[in-house]
Amino acid sequence: MNCSEAQRLLYDYLNGELEQLDLSRVESHLKVCSSCLRIFEFERRFQSLIIDRIPEETAPPDLRSAILDRIGQLEQPGTSFPASKKRFFFRPALVLAPIGLVVVFLTVVFFTSREKQKDPIAILVQNHMRVESSNEGLTYNSSDPQFVSSHLERELGLQASLTAYTSSGAVLKGGEVIPVCNCKVGLVYFSKEGVGISLFLCHPGELTCPMMEAISHRNRKYHFARIRGFNLLVWDDAGLNCIVVSRLPRETLLDFASRRA
Ligand SMILES: [Zn+2]
Repeated sequence: MNCSEAQRLLYDYLNGELEQLDLSRVESHLKVCSSCLRIFEFERRFQSLIIDRIPEETAPPDLRSAILDRIGQLEQPGTSFPASKKRFFFRPALVLAPIGLVVVFLTVVFFTSREKQKDPIAILVQNHMRVESSNEGLTYNSSDPQFVSSHLERELGLQASLTAYTSSGAVLKGGEVIPVCNCKVGLVYFSKEGVGISLFLCHPGELTCPMMEAISHRNRKYHFARIRGFNLLVWDDAGLNCIVVSRLPRETLLDFASRRA
C-alpha cells in the first residue's frame, strides 16, 4: 500500500469502517511510514478535539452517570417538602437540578480544556483558520509592525522584531494575544499573495509541537509538518519560539522565516 492509498482510507479507518483486509494493510503501512502516521495521528486528535466540544460526549461516563443519578434521586418522592410548604419554587429538585447541570457543565469545560493541552498544533491551526476567515476581528488591526510589536511586548514581555518579516513581501494585517495550552501566545497575522500567514510567538520551552520533521535552510534549523493542507514551520529566533501556519508552500515560508533581523 502506498501513501495516497493509505490516506484515501484515512476517514474510514478513523471511523472504524474498514474491512479486515484494508484495516491490516493500513496498519502495516502506518508501521513503516512516519509521515502517514503523523497525518493519521493528527486527524485522530483533531476529530477528538471536535468531539470533545459536544458536552454529552465529554464528561467521563462514570462521573456523568453519578451526577445524573444524584439529580434523579432528588426528583424522587419523599424528598419533597410538607404539603403546606409545597410551593413551586421550593421543590428541591427544581432548585438543585440546575445546580447539577452547572456542575456537569463545569466538568465538561474542565475536561475539554485538559484535552486541548495535549495537542497545540490543532489549536494553532484552528486559530489560523479563524483569523484567515476574518482578520477584521484581530485585537490590534494595524499594518504598522512597531504598533503590533509594542502591544505584544507589553502583554507577553517578549521582544518581537516584525519589520524583518515584512521584507519578504508579506503584508502585516494585525495581531493579538491568545491562550494556548495555559500559555499566552502572540498571534501576528500577515498576508502574502492573498494567502494568510499566522506567526505565533511565545517564550522558548512553551508549546512544543511533536512529530515534526527537522530541516535545515541557510544554515539554520527548522521543524516542518504538513497537516490538513496547512504547512507548519517552527524555529527559534533569538530566544523566541516562532511557529508559522499557512497554506503557502514550504519554500515560501522558509523565505519568510529567514527574513528576520
Ligand atoms: Zn505513507
